Amino acid sequence: MEYIIHIDGSFGEGGGQILRTSLALSLVTGKPFHITNIRAGRGKPGLMRQHLTAVEAAARVGAADVEGNSLGSPELTFRPQAVVAGQYSFAVGTAGSCTLVLQTILPALLTASEPSHIILEGGTHNPMAPPFDFLIGTYLPIVNRMGPRVAAVLERPGFFPAGGGRMTVEIEPAGALSPITLLERGPVQKQSARAMVARLPRTIAERELEVIRETLALDRNALQVEEVSDSKGPGNVILVEVASRYVTETFTGFGERGVPAEQIAQKTAQAVREYLKAEVPVGRYLADQLLVPLALAGGGSFRTLSPTDHTTTNVEVIKRFLDVDVSVDMTDDRTCTISLERR
Ligand code: AMP
Repeated sequence: MEYIIHIDGSFGEGGGQILRTSLALSLVTGKPFHITNIRAGRGKPGLMRQHLTAVEAAARVGAADVEGNSLGSPELTFRPQAVVAGQYSFAVGTAGSCTLVLQTILPALLTASEPSHIILEGGTHNPMAPPFDFLIGTYLPIVNRMGPRVAAVLERPGFFPAGGGRMTVEIEPAGALSPITLLERGPVQKQSARAMVARLPRTIAERELEVIRETLALDRNALQVEEVSDSKGPGNVILVEVASRYVTETFTGFGERGVPAEQIAQKTAQAVREYLKAEVPVGRYLADQLLVPLALAGGGSFRTLSPTDHTTTNVEVIKRFLDVDVSVDMTDDRTCTISLERR
């Protein structure tokens, strides 16, 4: 009888990450899986275009047999064969996130036998997904510390709802990933903020940066307005980068119709202040995204803010594919240390 891992997609956080982590680890381990109740916890459950693109990307990279890969599908069976590195191009077709598609196939390609070159089209700056700047400023530098060399270039930004963004990614794999420890943030070396406006008035970016400057006491020369002229649709994003000795974190606020720019900036600045006050190296989003690379490296530990549902759910999915012990120890009521160790 075939051995297959069963995943309940409605478990815990109940979103797309359960599916993406399952795909990523199925590719790396070669273990097939069957997932039901895909994204049952979301307003529009089942496979949306972005998830379908992640499934198709994983299927191509892993020469997999797939059942249930249609729009809206609540279940999927995925049986990978061998990971094939090389040149790939994936288009989400909507504003769905390119970075989330990348994070589905990246773990397998980090330790593949050959380099890869990936072109991704869709959204590059989406609410509820890692924006491109977080990818290159925060996530990839840590992945690169584990051995591989991954570089990404933004060719055109894509915002929700129009999409139309494009990025390219070069992956030089490593034989194996090295564990890392991120327990200290170290002194803050630089804080800077950039506000992007695409097909929207420059004053929106200026108003956002003014709030960031006042709330975080930044120098004027640490602020930058970026007017994007080549995007398919309008968009506004405020990005705050906190570069510390051992890690760089990126905080993002997404402009929304009907929400004043000042409010978006204020919320972003609050997230930065909370992070700085906690004196941890790893922010909330990076925490759930570091779990897969660390588990594949066979171990590691980091200090972060109290765990999110994404983090606790991701830990459980990882344990279904890998023999790994994960401990989450609250250091106080706001911060914790997460440690992973392969059995
Ligand atoms: P899901 O909601 O299951 O599709 O997962 C969303 C993923 O996007 C999680 O890995 C989050 O950590 C990540 N994410 C969401 N918002 C941000 C953000 N502003 N910066 C970085 N990562 C983010």
